Amino acid sequence: MRAQVGIVGAGPAGLTLALLLERAGIDCVVLESRTREYVEKRVRAGLLEQNTVDLLHELGVGERLAREGLEHRGIFLRHRGHTQHIDMAELTGRHITIYGQQEVVKDLIAARLDLGAPLHFEVSEVAIHDLEGERPRITYTHAGSEHELACDAIAGCDGFHGVCRPSIPLGLLTEHESVYDFGWLGILAEAAPTTDELIYGWHENGFALYSMRSPRISRLYLQVPADEDIERWPDERIWEELQTRLAAEGWSVGEGPIFEKGIAPLRSFVAEPMQHGRLFLAGDAAHIVPPTGAKGLNLAVNDVRLLAAALVDWFRTGSSAGLDGYSTAALRRVWRAQDFSNYMTQLLHDLGGGEFQQGLQLARLEYLERSEAAARSLAENYVGLPAAGDF
Ligand SMILES: Cc1cc2nc3c(=O)[nH]c(=O)nc-3n(C[C@H](O)[C@H](O)[C@H](O)COP(=O)(O)OP(=O)(O)OC[C@H]3O[C@@H](n4cnc5c(N)ncnc54)[C@H](O)[C@@H]3O)c2cc1C
Repeated sequence: MRAQVGIVGAGPAGLTLALLLERAGIDCVVLESRTREYVEKRVRAGLLEQNTVDLLHELGVGERLAREGLEHRGIFLRHRGHTQHIDMAELTGRHITIYGQQEVVKDLIAARLDLGAPLHFEVSEVAIHDLEGERPRITYTHAGSEHELACDAIAGCDGFHGVCRPSIPLGLLTEHESVYDFGWLGILAEAAPTTDELIYGWHENGFALYSMRSPRISRLYLQVPADEDIERWPDERIWEELQTRLAAEGWSVGEGPIFEKGIAPLRSFVAEPMQHGRLFLAGDAAHIVPPTGAKGLNLAVNDVRLLAAALVDWFRTGSSAGLDGYSTAALRRVWRAQDFSNYMTQLLHDLGGGEFQQGLQLARLEYLERSEAAARSLAENYVGLPAAGDF
C-alpha cells in the first residue's frame, strides 16, 4: 500500500491533519489503535480557542459546533466567595467555545468517512521504519492480517503514549518534563450548570473548576493528590467539596447524578525537535500541558495547521522550507502555552507552600482585579493569540 502521508492516531491532531491534507488533494491513510466507538466517547477537553473554531469552520466541519457549541465571553475567578469576571471578549475581541473534544472527533470522523478516505480503527503492532530515507514505512496489523504502508512522510499524532516519539533514536530528542504531585478528579454530571461561564476557584483546600458540556451536563474538577484513590471519593464527598471550594453567598453548584468520574495526572512535557527525518510529531505526541490553561487540544490543532501547510507546499513545489521550519514554528506556540498553563496552575492550586504561597496567590488574584493590563494579559493567552505570525 502507498500513501503520500501516513498518519498514526485518530485524535484531534491526526483527524484534523487528514482533513486538511485531503482538501488539498494529498492522499493519506489514518491508523488508529482503538475502536471508533471508543475514540468518539473519550471525554477529555472541552474548550476551543477561536483559532480552533475558525479552522473547523474552514474545513466544513463546523455545522454542529455552531449549533451546539456554547460561546463564552470569558471566565470567572473566585476566591473566598469573591468573584471576578475576566471579560475576554471585551479585553481581546475574541471568544472561547465550549464543545466536547469527543464531539469534535465525531465530526472529523464523519467528514473523513464522507470523503471515502481510508481511516482504519483497531490496528495493532504499529511500527515505523526508514525515517531517515525518502520512503518511510508503517507496518501494522489490521483485521488479522499484516500490512505495510509506504509513504513520503509520516505524521506521529498518536498522543503521549504512542509509538512514534519513542521510535526516534535515543539522544536525538531533548525531553523537558515536570510532573506535578497533584492531579484533577473530574466528573460529568447530569446537572444543569448554575453558572453561564467557567468558574476557576482558588481555595485553601485546593483548586476547583466548574465547567459544562451542554445546558444539561456539568463538568467539574477538584485538585487531589496525584496518587489519590478514587474509591475515597464517593459522590456525596465530591459534591460537598465542590460546594466548599466554589462557595459564594446565595449561590450553589447544581448537583445531579454523576455518570463519569476519574483522576488525571498533571504534567508539563515538551520534546524538541518535533521532527526526525520524514517523521513529524504533532499534538500530545510531542507535548503535554497541565489542563488549567485549556490548551492541549488547541495546540494539537495548531501543530497540524502548520504541518499541513508545510506538507502541501512540499508536495506542490518541492520546497522543504516549511517542513524544515515546522518544529521551530510549532514550538513557539507550545512554549507560550506551557508558560501560560504553568502560570494558571501556580496561580490557583495548592502547591504545598503554606501561608506564604497563599499570600502570593491572593496578591496575584487581586492584581488581576485591579489592573486591566494584567487581566488583558491573562485573557489574550486564554483565548489564544491570533494564528497569524504562527505564535
Ligand atoms: C481530563 C482532561 C482534560 C482536558 N481538558 C482540555 C481542555 O479543556 N482544553 C484543551 O485544549 N485540552 C484539554 N486536554 C488535553 C487534550 O485532550 C489533548 O491535548 C488532546 O487530546 C491532544 O490531541 P492529540 O490528537 O494530539 O492526541 P490524542 O487525543 O491522545 O490522540 C492520539 C490518538 O492516537 C491513538 N494511538 C495511540 N497509540 C497508537 C498507536 N500505536 N497506533 C495507532 N494509534 C495510536 C490513540 O488511541 C488516540 O486516539 C485535556 C486532557 C485531559 C486528559
